[in-house]
Amino acid sequence: TPVDAITALEKRIEAVEPQVQAFLSRDFEAARKAAETADISLPLGGVPIGIKDVINVKGESCTAASRMLTGYTSPYDATVITKLRAAGAIPFGRLNMDEFAMGSSTENSAYQVTRNPWDTSRIPGGSSGGSAAAVAALEVPATLGSDTGGSIRQPAALCGCVGLKPSYGRVSRYGLIAFASSLDQIGPFARTTKDCALLLNAIAGRDPRDSTSLDLPTEDFTSQLGRDLKGVKLGIPKEYFVDGMDARVRAKVEEAIRQCEAAGAELVEISLPHTEYAVSVYYIIATAEASANLARFDGVRYGKRADQPKDLMDLYLRSREEGFGSEVKRRIILGTYVLSSGYYDAYYLRAQKVRTLIRRDFEAAYEKVDAIVCPTSPDLAFPIGERTSDPLRMYLADIFTIAANLAGICGISVPCGFVEEGGKQLPVGLQFLGKSLDESRLLGVADAYE
Ligand code: GLN
Repeated sequence: TPVDAITALEKRIEAVEPQVQAFLSRDFEAARKAAETADISLPLGGVPIGIKDVINVKGESCTAASRMLTGYTSPYDATVITKLRAAGAIPFGRLNMDEFAMGSSTENSAYQVTRNPWDTSRIPGGSSGGSAAAVAALEVPATLGSDTGGSIRQPAALCGCVGLKPSYGRVSRYGLIAFASSLDQIGPFARTTKDCALLLNAIAGRDPRDSTSLDLPTEDFTSQLGRDLKGVKLGIPKEYFVDGMDARVRAKVEEAIRQCEAAGAELVEISLPHTEYAVSVYYIIATAEASANLARFDGVRYGKRADQPKDLMDLYLRSREEGFGSEVKRRIILGTYVLSSGYYDAYYLRAQKVRTLIRRDFEAAYEKVDAIVCPTSPDLAFPIGERTSDPLRMYLADIFTIAANLAGICGISVPCGFVEEGGKQLPVGLQFLGKSLDESRLLGVADAYE
């Protein structure tokens, strides 16, 4: 029964959580109560789903792993939560992340460091590191995360689970704390592609509260599962097999691609010529949008408020000084810089133009292929602390995931094997990228590979 499931989950979480530390908080009593009345005839009836701490769940804390929101309680459910509940699921717990989803290792959380379940001296990836680690450590069957530049796919790859970034417009962001609004999407983590498809069925759809959510006919995202790869045209972008990536990761990904070919897929070499600009363009557009989105944290409306302010300006300045961590401040400074008069044309406007070129690269590719296959991350999970003092190196962790957000297309990371390192097995992820709104086919291809 769903109540038994919660009891089993509690046992598992209490056993592994001291090592993994994926959850910022969890409430078994509330989950048990919800389980008592769960309707198991519904698609996700009684299934507990872990929630990244950036998505509002009524009555629970929602901090985006920032001190800025310590003590904040959500007054409402995000649309994805309303939809999960309607499908019978039980939103469960708050999962750790990089502060305001800025990072690739979950080390930017103001509260705790989450560990990779395969080797607890290593990072789980980020920014949705808690969401990935909780699934990989078998603490919950599935979770929700958010992906602005790779934050679902990269931690899924490093933790060895499946992570899906839906196309821009597929899922409502109402109730998601905004990072970069032209890039953010909510998506699922699970152990299989099929489970991700079931979660997408639950959360997708038009929402009048998010004007970017698209009004499309209801689709069953499991409809193309269970097929094979015969005749499927898979594009291999030559720009995604670069010097500097881990040779063992590359070998695993190449082996997976050969398996796709052996299973009947037709491999097509393609070029996405503007790939080399993706990271630069992203860090202009994402920081610009973040600087605007984070202006609302002023010490008045939400969460943290500086003690005994001298005047209004002192209240703003000290609340933000004390509330935001250093990576968030770095992004705000970069973002306000690229938007400032005199630099706007040189950086922000130019980045928008190159973004269009990146999107067109994909459109041209999808004239020739059904999906693109490439690595998710250039590296294995790295040791905790290795890159914290080198932001540029950290930014390169998303080199293979960022372009999909800039183009608005959908992408999924599935496990494709392990590499041994220091006596531990570390997972490698294979990424499939689909045309915008082509999730059903993307999931079909990923499922066929799996
Ligand atoms: N790592 C990227 C960043 O720090 C992407 C984060 C994300 O997708 N939320 O911005």
